[in-house]
Amino acid sequence: MTWQIRLAHLYPDHMNIYGDRGNIIALRQRCRWRGIACEVIPVGPGATVDWSAIDIAFFGGGQDSGQALIAEDFLVRQGPALRAAINDGLVMLAICGGYQLLGHYFLTHDGQRLPGIGALDVYTVGGKERLIGNIVVETDPAVFGATFRLVGFENHSGRTYLGAGVRPLGRVLVGRGNNGEDGTEGAVYRNTIGCYLHGSLLPKNPQLADHLIAAALRRRYGAAAHLQPLDDALELRAQQVMVERMLRMGR
Ligand code: GLN
Repeated sequence: MTWQIRLAHLYPDHMNIYGDRGNIIALRQRCRWRGIACEVIPVGPGATVDWSAIDIAFFGGGQDSGQALIAEDFLVRQGPALRAAINDGLVMLAICGGYQLLGHYFLTHDGQRLPGIGALDVYTVGGKERLIGNIVVETDPAVFGATFRLVGFENHSGRTYLGAGVRPLGRVLVGRGNNGEDGTEGAVYRNTIGCYLHGSLLPKNPQLADHLIAAALRRRYGAAAHLQPLDDALELRAQQVMVERMLRMGR
């Protein structure tokens, strides 16, 4: 049997900065290497989506102005069904601006209130100083069953605060993370992960890419659907070098 993954890419023309599209490329390629069919479905303004047919959703980051252009469409068109799919275990990754719009709201630094769909129990408030630089995050073993270190690049004015309905993706070893105050980074609810790591995130962190693919296959095909390992020696070495350099030198 050929496994198939349907990958919804939310607002690719409005929400794609700092290489976020690389996450789609990484997911596709890692599926291709294993003979898993992967169809990418762009979801732009006005699109209608059958979320029950989607295996992975991806929502990249954007400038406040880009978020403002699509926030209403996202809330009204996709909000109710996407929230239900997330509650039902849809595998989703949202970065930065996309992460913020999965939460309750994003109050921008100039006072604009962008509503989120409330799928993640987080809210975000923009600050004057942007939180910019490389970041290293140690994942929570309760999320992945293992601890590993993710590397990425963050650039956001928003400070995100977590409610009781989510747990952090991990703790910040180098960088600023969710809000620059509490040492947490990202938020996880069921199979949905929101975080501030651009980079692109998934090419730099193959463990996370495979975590998403494996979770999507398990959800669609059951427990037997387990992933063939790939040779990630180069990727893991590059990740390790970055972690060591950042731990040594800061950002
Ligand atoms: N515009 C948002 C902020 O500045 C998100 C930025 C991003 O996606 N990199 O917080």
